[in-house]
Amino acid sequence: MRIVFATGNAGKMREIRDILADIDAEVYSLKDMGLHSVADETGETFAANALIKVREIYDILKPSGDMKDTIIMADDSGLCIDAMGGAPGVHSARWMGHDTDYKIKNQAILDEMKDVPEEKRGAGFVCHISAIDEEGRVYDAEGEMRGRIAYESRGREGFGYDPIFYLPEMGMTSGELSEEEKNKISHRGKVLRMMKEILKGEGLIREREAE
Ligand code: IMP
Repeated sequence: MRIVFATGNAGKMREIRDILADIDAEVYSLKDMGLHSVADETGETFAANALIKVREIYDILKPSGDMKDTIIMADDSGLCIDAMGGAPGVHSARWMGHDTDYKIKNQAILDEMKDVPEEKRGAGFVCHISAIDEEGRVYDAEGEMRGRIAYESRGREGFGYDPIFYLPEMGMTSGELSEEEKNKISHRGKVLRMMKEILKGEGLIREREAE
């Protein structure tokens, strides 16, 4: 079995390989396959965007017969802030401009949220993973990591909005967690584990036998 994860992000790939290590399948990134995505993420939902990403790669591999024993997966994720009506949401990467430094984006959120009381500062990192099999059947899983918008930016780990995402039960932002700690609780990790169970249930993947 072969799993192709349609991402160009090396950090995501490390997390994905780690979580799929117990599956009897080879895990490939787009780079490993000599491919790269040019699809526009124009969907209005995380699910729509994840589907755009898996379909793009399916449409390349299928006609050349390269989908045999292959599952393509892709994720779409973002930060949804309750007090901002779920923004930046599906627009997280593009919000205030794709190339705008996250120091600026994060400060803009802190400024907008400065008078919002503690109990209304709830937010979630949402992740949707879509998978497509050899026959073009699509499987979906979605979940989130809940937290709050911090009062100030903290931590140099992670990426994107991590420094302003406060995890009350840990007493720190996700920008202060090591990659290993974050992988245990992250939205992406949670949803990838869900997807693993779905695909196992469908008989498409199985656990690696102990050596
Ligand atoms: P995509 O899923 O690669 O399209 O990225 C979505 C965007 O959501 C990222 O560029 C970040 O801005 C944001 N995002 C998603 N997950 C995280 C996370 O774990 N930490 C910080 N920002 C995130």
